Amino acid sequence: MSLIQFENVSHSYSGTNALDNLIFEIAENKITAIIGRSGSGKSTLVQIINGLIVPTKGKVFVLGSYLDYTKINKLRLKIGYSVQGTGLFPHMTVYENISLLGKITGMLKHDIERRTDFLMSLVNLTPDFKTKYPHQLSGGEQQRVGICRAMLLNPPIFLLDEAFAALDPTTKNEIHAELLKLQETEPRTIVLVTHDLNEAIKLGDNIMVLENGVIQQYGTRDEIVNNPQNDFVKNYMNHIN
Ligand code: ADP
Repeated sequence: MSLIQFENVSHSYSGTNALDNLIFEIAENKITAIIGRSGSGKSTLVQIINGLIVPTKGKVFVLGSYLDYTKINKLRLKIGYSVQGTGLFPHMTVYENISLLGKITGMLKHDIERRTDFLMSLVNLTPDFKTKYPHQLSGGEQQRVGICRAMLLNPPIFLLDEAFAALDPTTKNEIHAELLKLQETEPRTIVLVTHDLNEAIKLGDNIMVLENGVIQQYGTRDEIVNNPQNDFVKNYMNHIN
C-alpha cells in the first residue's frame, strides 16, 4: 500500500519547468530519500505532497484520496513537516512550541504532556529544555525541538526538507541516529529531501535521484548504490564519502 502517489505530475513556475511528468509511489512506513542537486525540483516535490504548491498538471494521491486543495488544512495535521531552520516560534518556550498543535486540536493536557516527554526523550532533550526559548538553543537542539513539534500528533507522514543541512557533522550523526530510533519505535512514511548523498544512503530505505525535474532512478538503497542505471546516477554515486 502507498500513502503517497504522483500520477503524471508536472509543475512549472511561470515558464520554468521544475517537475516533468513524475509518476511514482512512496512505500508505506519506509524512509524515502529524494536526492538531487540544487534546483533539481526536490522542494517543489515535497511541497506538492503537503499541498503548499498546487501542481500545474497531474494528480496527487495522499493518505487514501486525491488531494483536495480546499480541505488541505485538515490533511496537513496528518503530515509532519520539518525544514532547515525549524521555523520555531521565537517568543514561545520549547514546551509551548511542541504542544501548540495539541492545544489547537483539543488534545488533553495530560496526553500532550506525556507525548512531549516521550518525544523529547527519544531525541535526547532533557526536561529542563521545556522552559527555554529557541534562541537559547544550539542549532541541533532547535532541530530536535522541530522534530518533536512535527511528531506531536503522531502523523502517518513525515516530510523533512533539508532539515539537517545546517548542522555540523557530529550533531548531524546524532540526529540521524535519533530519527532512525524514532522510525523503529513508531514507523511512519518518511520523505526526506536532501542534497547530501551520504545522508540519503544512511537513512533512505529507498532513494529517488532527481535531476532537472526528472527521475533519473528510483529504487532501494542497494539498487541505487550497486546498480546505477545511467551515467548521471553513476557519476553521482562516485561522490559518496
Ligand atoms: P531544489 O529543492 O532541488 O533545490 P526547487 O524545487 O527549489 O529545487 O526548484 C526547482 C526549479 O524551480 C529551479 O529551477 C528553481 O529555480 C525553480 N523555482 C523554485 N521555486 C520557484 C519560484 N517560487 N519561482 C520561480 N521559480 C522557482
